[in-house]
Amino acid sequence: MKTIVTKLTAILSGAMLMLSTTQFSYAADNPISSPDTLLLTQVQIVDTEKQKIRRGAVLIEQGKIAAEYAVPPANFKGQILNLNNRWLIPGLIDMHVHAFGNRAPHAKSDFAGTEKISQRVLYTGVTGFVDLFGHEQSQIAARQKQRTGAFLGADIYSSLSCLTAPKGHCTEYGLETRTMSTPEEAVVQVQSLAKAKPDVIKVVYQPSDDQPSIDKATFSAIVQQSNQLGIKTIVHLKTWQEVSDAIEVGASAFTHIPGTPIPAGLADKIAKTKMVVIPTMTVHTDLTDFLFDKTVLASELVQAMTTPDIIAGYQSEQTMKKWGDREAKWRKLDDQRTANLAALVKAGVTVLAGTDAGNYGTIQGYSVHREILKFTQAGMTNWQALAAATTKAGTFLGIDNTLQTGAQASFVVLDASPIEDIQNTQKIHTVIHQGQVVDRALVLKNGF
Ligand SMILES: [Zn+2]
Repeated sequence: MKTIVTKLTAILSGAMLMLSTTQFSYAADNPISSPDTLLLTQVQIVDTEKQKIRRGAVLIEQGKIAAEYAVPPANFKGQILNLNNRWLIPGLIDMHVHAFGNRAPHAKSDFAGTEKISQRVLYTGVTGFVDLFGHEQSQIAARQKQRTGAFLGADIYSSLSCLTAPKGHCTEYGLETRTMSTPEEAVVQVQSLAKAKPDVIKVVYQPSDDQPSIDKATFSAIVQQSNQLGIKTIVHLKTWQEVSDAIEVGASAFTHIPGTPIPAGLADKIAKTKMVVIPTMTVHTDLTDFLFDKTVLASELVQAMTTPDIIAGYQSEQTMKKWGDREAKWRKLDDQRTANLAALVKAGVTVLAGTDAGNYGTIQGYSVHREILKFTQAGMTNWQALAAATTKAGTFLGIDNTLQTGAQASFVVLDASPIEDIQNTQKIHTVIHQGQVVDRALVLKNGF
């Protein structure tokens, strides 16, 4: 792991030289000097929980925040990274991806597999993601390798499989899924999958769809069995009726946001039951911007995250020939989904950032920044949008992804304040993953 983490002394020599020698002295007896120790100084800590920015220094020990100081400790002996008043936010977590790579219309896919995507997205400040369906055995293997440090990549959380009806959604990709038609079969499948320790259970429930779906009794059995085993469920669905059913059976979260107007009272009901929403606004709406807003794919992060072929595919002659006249129609649909999300936000529903990366209209890593932006367009404050992609995602996954003492030391250091302009999340200076400063050039190289 360490071999691909650039030595701080090498990349930070500039910053180190700027340290005032009167501010710090290096006593030989200082205990804080293990290689896993790093002191971040002159930090603007963007605390989404208190909704305040405070200045200070952050001590990292063994991948966790060991202490925070208003004034850095004297006699500190160890590695110091002076952030020169840059902004520190927790690492971004994408709650809905398919981490195989990127696709675009009329373009060659850049499929690279979970391990490489996990490395690649660190560049964008994504320090963790939840894969909601891929090849089960490959997911298990990639997660194991990432967790044991075989490569330096974003933390991999995974549903490992997809629970669906025979010939239902997820079965069309040629990958093995777990299918069931009855509550009894559902219980067997959940118990069997649980042995491989999925971080969440992904369920497809959409009786409204053309593809076959499990029925409500089977859906209920999956959720009940998962709840008994203490594993959260994330439900892929399409309509507000299916959202109501998900509330009834006690699902933990639903993903995607229906495109029809939200029925009166439902947002409050969701808020009351505390069911979480992962709306995946980017997969629903960003195809419009990829085709019709030239600035969106011009971002430096896009260039880094995929191939020129994929980028060109979105605005090619062939693509425009097919969809070039759709802008007004698509924008109307997009506006409806934004209005639906706004209703959820207003009701106080917990919303988490997930992109459904791997599909058209998304770019692995980059789209998390787009999702955060779209949250603010649906009425979230910049504070709330940041929390949705960081601290609150951590809470759902049972990890401490805050900036408090004891939290995991996965951070993004920004050159400008995300509270002033949410798009500043793209102005990335440094990424720190579990206490290690990421060599962004190297993870990019390893990620293709
Ligand atoms: Zn998906």
